[in-house]
Amino acid sequence: MSYFDELEDLPAEELIAWAVRTYGDSFAISTSFQKSGMVILDMACRINPQVRVITLDTGRLPEETYAMMDMVRSRYGVRIEVVMPDPREVEGMVARHGANLFYADPSLRMLCCQVRKVRPLERKLRQFRAYAVGLRRLSAENRNEVRKVEYRDGRIKLAPVADWTRQDIEAYTRRHNLPVHPLYARGYSSIGCAPCTRPAGNGEDERAGRWWWEEAAPKECGIHFSVNGKIGRKLDILLEEVVQVSHA
Ligand code: SF4
Repeated sequence: MSYFDELEDLPAEELIAWAVRTYGDSFAISTSFQKSGMVILDMACRINPQVRVITLDTGRLPEETYAMMDMVRSRYGVRIEVVMPDPREVEGMVARHGANLFYADPSLRMLCCQVRKVRPLERKLRQFRAYAVGLRRLSAENRNEVRKVEYRDGRIKLAPVADWTRQDIEAYTRRHNLPVHPLYARGYSSIGCAPCTRPAGNGEDERAGRWWWEEAAPKECGIHFSVNGKIGRKLDILLEEVVQVSHA
């Protein structure tokens, strides 16, 4: 059994405590303030009130997410490190494909996610040796293989609540009276950028409201899973064009 396999069996709090102990300032909670992200943030702040917290501001977030950031700052007293996309890349992309390119084609949607989410986060994560996210296996079919501990792109990635159910998250949220993103009260079950997220209907998958207009594309932005196949190849070309023009 490997060291990682042993860590895999630790409960969420213990796994976060291990990361705080082992990596100190080189460990961060990465969250978009959805419920599972709030659970790991709350646990981490109890262990170390100075824990580093990072979040992405894609430039297209709903107002309610900014309100949520303020709620978290005032409840926990943490300094939130807000990560933004490279403005030259956003300008290059928008000049070429328009501001709402994501509705045109899945590869253009993923280009937007690369420029506004994946690349900025990758740049920020270079500061860290380990980070934790609120991914859960049961939140979507393609996530059922998520490990609690993995080595990815040169650092340790933890998903401490990977094995939690939605009910576990709800119970922890109530027990500790956690701040709740205001959009849950309006029927959202997964929350991302404003133009790409809507409430999910009763009985729909938790992530059904994300990129709801796409049929054959994975409901992922590329942060947690790589994009392969035909869409991935198209994306590589589109991204190269934008990056070349932006950094010329
Ligand atoms: S979720 Fe939508 S707006 Fe946000 S980065 Fe992805 S495509 Fe762009």
